[in-house]
Amino acid sequence: MSILSAPHFHDETAAIEFLEAIIYADGVFCPKCGNVGESYKINGQRPGLRCCKACRKQFTVKVGTVFEDSHVPLHKWLMCNYLMVSSKKGISSHQIHRALGVTYKTAWFMTHRLREAMAPGGVLPPLGGNGKTVEADETFVGGKEKNKHAKDRKHQGRGAVGKEAVFSLVERGGKVRSQHVPAVNAHTLGKVLNDQLHTSSRLMTDDARQYIPLGRGFADHQAVKHSIGEYVRGDAHTNTIEGYFSIFKRGMGGVYQHCSADHLKRYLAGFDFRYNEREALGTNDNDRAVAALKGIVGKRLTYRRIGA
Ligand SMILES: [Zn+2]
Repeated sequence: MSILSAPHFHDETAAIEFLEAIIYADGVFCPKCGNVGESYKINGQRPGLRCCKACRKQFTVKVGTVFEDSHVPLHKWLMCNYLMVSSKKGISSHQIHRALGVTYKTAWFMTHRLREAMAPGGVLPPLGGNGKTVEADETFVGGKEKNKHAKDRKHQGRGAVGKEAVFSLVERGGKVRSQHVPAVNAHTLGKVLNDQLHTSSRLMTDDARQYIPLGRGFADHQAVKHSIGEYVRGDAHTNTIEGYFSIFKRGMGGVYQHCSADHLKRYLAGFDFRYNEREALGTNDNDRAVAALKGIVGKRLTYRRIGA
């Protein structure tokens, strides 16, 4: 039987129970006053409605999450989430619109809210560490149609016209971390490396000149000379990060040119999440869907910023 025929993808009560098992893993908590374990179910009304014994307010598991105030049934949200995380390069809002029978606009908001859920919360510890090798590289996305065929000026200083710059770090055999950066220069890249890469790491980059001073802050820095056609030298290469960018670019397809720079970080959160929860690290489609749902709490304000 297909996983997609599971009840929580089709039935609202089953969907609520599925989500409650994830969100209330440490006990039912009241999103209004924070009280744990002091609530009771109110039967016969909306599925999942509870009342807090401490503050007397009513709530469901959706309150305080990216699903709050949505008119879309929870089982469709769960299906949307599953479809998004089970495809390596993601799924477009158009596909969600067709698969779930919601409007394109609704599908767009749903996918963005779920990407927000996939974004890491709080400050992350640095990547890498003693004996770890981390590859760093930049790529560009978007840009106006007329500039799309302009030569990528990556290695000639910056200024790929109208494009947005993405800087990513990936630990070999480990996780990726991507950020939208305003420019690709020693200042912006240096700040990311300082904040997010452990100084005892080995750093691998191409030979773009901004990396020369930046690499001195780490245990080792190897730069493959892409400018003269060198791609591998011993274990010096940037194949891992380039593989990641290739998934990212195929997944973005033609989407990004229609999106403002503000949405790029959410797309990146989605791609980073899928990569970091990948099969090779022991995560299957189900685990990945559950991991994404764990991120829905406390992100409600963020989605309001992009509209409901
Ligand atoms: Zn309460």
